[in-house]
Amino acid sequence: MTNRQDDYRQDDYDRPTDIGADTRLAQVGRRPEWTGIAGQPGGIVSPAVWRASTILYEDVAHLRAARSNQHERWFYGRKGTPTSWSLADALTELEPGAAGTMLYPSGVAAISCALMAVLKPGDTLLMVDSAYDPTRTFCEKVLRPMGINTVYYDPLIGHDIETLIDARTRAIFLESPGSLTMEVQDVPAIVAVAKAHGLVTLIDNTWATPLFFPALSHGVDISILACTKYIVGHSDVMMGSVTATEQHWPQIRSMAWMFGQMSSPDDCWLAMRGLRTLGVRLRQHQENALAVARWLKGRPEVGEVRHPALPDCPGHALWQRDFSGASGLFSFTLKGAEDETRTRFIDALRHFGIGYSWGGFESLALPVDPHAIRTAAPWRGRDPLIRLHIGLEDATDLIADLEQAFTASQSPL
Ligand SMILES: *Cc1c(COP(=O)(O)O)cnc(C)c1O
Repeated sequence: MTNRQDDYRQDDYDRPTDIGADTRLAQVGRRPEWTGIAGQPGGIVSPAVWRASTILYEDVAHLRAARSNQHERWFYGRKGTPTSWSLADALTELEPGAAGTMLYPSGVAAISCALMAVLKPGDTLLMVDSAYDPTRTFCEKVLRPMGINTVYYDPLIGHDIETLIDARTRAIFLESPGSLTMEVQDVPAIVAVAKAHGLVTLIDNTWATPLFFPALSHGVDISILACTKYIVGHSDVMMGSVTATEQHWPQIRSMAWMFGQMSSPDDCWLAMRGLRTLGVRLRQHQENALAVARWLKGRPEVGEVRHPALPDCPGHALWQRDFSGASGLFSFTLKGAEDETRTRFIDALRHFGIGYSWGGFESLALPVDPHAIRTAAPWRGRDPLIRLHIGLEDATDLIADLEQAFTASQSPL
């Protein structure tokens, strides 16, 4: 239906399909129009930082003509510059089946704007009970007063999600694994039910990224990343992205435009720099986190180790079936311990920072208490839970650090 002028994908741009993920990471977002040098063949390797608000036009005719097509075209700074277009395009290229990607100033902005794009008053949203806490808050504090009802479901519900669907149900939101309690969802089963009922599916795919779980290939309509985590990878930029299929992309894009969502060129440039090493970083996060998780599993102080690649984790078999890797985030319980023991343990760690977020090169530890944020599948665990993000340090150093912290935590000062 779109004419060539309005087409948001360039027909003359070759999309390589027969290459591996690391080759793709090296090549994405480098179209000649973004890296070329005027009057000279060749160009620079990575798109530069183009900072702009006003774009100047030759005359009124050109100014008017620019209005008709603002996607990946110089128009006004809010619609981006080659720096943001190339990052968005790179994220699209990493997600087979995607038509386009929008960028946002944070992961939460991406989630809220995607939900606003698919829901209208009177609709019901099915939200996974293990969702990121601010996602729930948005459903309760923004969507509910607008007349959009949210029903929470057990992350392990699988095909039975069908029992929750009624005439008002419009969309299903997934997050797999949940970023505190790590339940892996049966995405293909839920997607099959959604398709049978004409529902939209959205996933918060921050943990796996498209490298370990290409969500759109698994039938999901809209894939959301907190780029703040692994895409940026260096704990120094806040950013979110929404990548969607042909069917949903126009609505995602226009809602982001209407809300004035964008990311600064400097942040996009840093995110692009991070993205180039996503493959090597994720493999090392995976290797280190598995070494630490397996070591923890052998410790007498530890109860459950909730790492999707280990059998303790709810949905482990689904991870084995559907994912091609595991990143650096998991959680574990301290068997029969008191809260004070957990506090002493975390405070004693030397190589782990204590702080929110994750996905950077550095390791982090966080006490987490899911009781207050669960309704459909209440958290019944009595043992204190700790979430670790395992960074790129030497795993032997991290294990030695955890070992000394166990010793320190057993003996109150
Ligand atoms: C951090 C996070 C977000 C939000 O990202 P921000 O950039 O911090 O707003 C969303 N989902 C998950 C799973 C997260 O861990």
